[in-house]
Amino acid sequence: MSDFIMAAQNGREIPKEDVIFGISRRANEMIAEVGDENVVNATIGALLDDDGDLMVLSSVDDTFMGLEPVEYAQYAPIGGTPAFRTAAIKAALRSYVPKGQVRAVATPGGTGSIRNTVSNYSCPGDQILTTDWFWGPYKTIAQELGRTLATFKLFDDKRKFNIEDFSKRVKEILANQDRLVIIINTPAQNPTGYSLTVEDWKGVSGFLADLPPEKRVALLVDTAYIDFAGDEDEYRKFLPILETLPANVLPIIAFSMSKTFTLYGLRCGAMICLAPDEAIADEFVRVCEFSARGTWSNSPKAGQSIIANIYADPDLLQRVSDERAEIRNMLLERGHAFEEEAAKVGLTILPYDAGFFASIPCDDPAAISAKLEKEGIFLVPLAKGLRVSVASISADKCRMLPAKIKAAME
Ligand code: PLP
Repeated sequence: MSDFIMAAQNGREIPKEDVIFGISRRANEMIAEVGDENVVNATIGALLDDDGDLMVLSSVDDTFMGLEPVEYAQYAPIGGTPAFRTAAIKAALRSYVPKGQVRAVATPGGTGSIRNTVSNYSCPGDQILTTDWFWGPYKTIAQELGRTLATFKLFDDKRKFNIEDFSKRVKEILANQDRLVIIINTPAQNPTGYSLTVEDWKGVSGFLADLPPEKRVALLVDTAYIDFAGDEDEYRKFLPILETLPANVLPIIAFSMSKTFTLYGLRCGAMICLAPDEAIADEFVRVCEFSARGTWSNSPKAGQSIIANIYADPDLLQRVSDERAEIRNMLLERGHAFEEEAAKVGLTILPYDAGFFASIPCDDPAAISAKLEKEGIFLVPLAKGLRVSVASISADKCRMLPAKIKAAME
């Protein structure tokens, strides 16, 4: 029975409170009671310093403070300002020069790119495919749009990317529908920290290249954490592989400025297609702008102006990159501290490469996280395990956690 009074449920599972925000609320209540030195809040998806304060790139902040009113108060064009679109492509691809037709459409964060890809490249009732360890809002977006989320196993029993299960699930779904949106979050996946290797990508593209040409696939690469994985060009080495795909498989990059420029609250991002020809690229702009008009209309202009101004000034761009490298190194140190300590105490974590999160597979994650909460340790229980945000806790806390989690699991 639905518990809705006036609202239409429309097949959606709508919790009373968002799980992660609920846990964060309880963590803050405990902090107020016992002090923050006695609480570990490893739930937050933002990079915080060791004292728990949000880290903001000062170069980006200075650029924001220097904006003229017209650069933020005026409407931006539906698909983004021309300077932003150019800058977004540079930020997403860096030194990679694509062979095909690249187009960018502004979106309010990477979330908007995911939403517009699902709405334009699948049909109501379709299944959308992603990994079994996935970012919860993929399911929310699918449900909002009358689609369902299907998953494939991210890892095989050798802890490698599970190309067999990926291929099997794609085939099964395409036996029942003509289109498929596939969402792969890499590098530094949320929630595992896994990054697909170039070999993994060759497997994915090799399989997709052999699909019947009448099937239409949108391969959405959610790169929300790409600039927090390691060397920024090294982690873009998979991009040329996307361009080997045939015309019935369209690679789309969901590029988020939330982490890359520490602009989480400004809602700035872009969806970028690597299309094989102009007709597919122009259609991409047309349909995505149409969807934008019917949802958020134009995306906020402030973030677009900030990014455009950064890319117009090579010295400023260098300052941003240098500052980002510094906070990235701090993050990577935390992640590796967690990984090392987990190995030492014998806590199995999923293959972790980099990024904001690491995950621990376990039975009954809800019970284990409830047990840990009593000790002042707040993690996010997922369907198949626990997620730890190494982005929001100090390296010392990262070292302290594995033994506590292991004990709670015993
Ligand atoms: N994709 C993943 C996996 C994320 O974790 C996030 C943010 O947490 C996003 C996309 C998009 O974030 P935003 O809409 O702030 O750009």
